[in-house]
Amino acid sequence: MLQKTLKDSIEFSGIGLHTGCAVNAKIVPSGEDTGITFVRTDLSGAPAIKAEASSVLTTSYATSLGAKELSVSTVEHILAAFYCLGVDNAIVELDGPEVPILDGSSSGFIDMIESTGLAELCAPRKYIVIKRPIKVQENGKYVFLMPSEETEFTVDYSIDFSHPFMTRQNFSRLFSKEVFKNEVGRARTFGFLRDVETLRKNGLAKGGSLDNAIVIGEGEILNEGGLRYPDEFVRHKVLDMMGDISLLGAPIVGRIIAHRSGHSLNYKLIQQVLKMPHRWELLDSWSATDAARADLRVMDKIATV
Ligand SMILES: [Zn+2]
Repeated sequence: MLQKTLKDSIEFSGIGLHTGCAVNAKIVPSGEDTGITFVRTDLSGAPAIKAEASSVLTTSYATSLGAKELSVSTVEHILAAFYCLGVDNAIVELDGPEVPILDGSSSGFIDMIESTGLAELCAPRKYIVIKRPIKVQENGKYVFLMPSEETEFTVDYSIDFSHPFMTRQNFSRLFSKEVFKNEVGRARTFGFLRDVETLRKNGLAKGGSLDNAIVIGEGEILNEGGLRYPDEFVRHKVLDMMGDISLLGAPIVGRIIAHRSGHSLNYKLIQQVLKMPHRWELLDSWSATDAARADLRVMDKIATV
């Protein structure tokens, strides 16, 4: 499997969910082993920042990358689209501080990437193959990365908010590009009406509206047309997870089991993965032999989840 980039550039514009800034964006193809890079064309010298764990600046309500004066906010939805559609290398140029939120999901990014198409590069794609469990947990929330019997990535994600619309929801799938496009990528970000005032006082959600987020009132969903999926909330959390784990820089072969996780805990998982290189391998390709499958079954039993 070779690395990929886009066949051609993509231009789009919109507003930032949290900053409310109008931003023009351009996604430009880039060469092998360059990964995903954000460039702030509005700043002197057009500084660039790579989408990787060491670039994470904040994880409160969104994942932001940066250093000192340079920041790019709310990168997770475009990163999820790159990761799940197999775009290994690209440059995202922005003339403002935040990736446009579009409709609050990855839908717009998926459509633009699909209509432009991908181009193969010469270098092989690398995979992070999980060999032993890696876990982070706090206050009843957790994310575990486990070896998988499959040659793919599987996801088992649950949420449990104390709200009538969001009692326990679970999303469990063998993950693929098709699953992302059809079942996850259109799920929108969400927020509670009761939190809007506080968020805005803290400089967040300034661009938020019913056009780019599900807004949950006391007894109803305020968006005309309601939800896109009955369990749209957990699906969006899976979408966020994909964007966050893409900061590891390579697709994961393994199983992710998460409960009530969010950007902060997702980031802690990434840090834990990087601290435990003996628990995974970076490989050009991977397929489970029967012997490996048997080993994994034993390890699953030993690992207490
Ligand atoms: Zn999100």
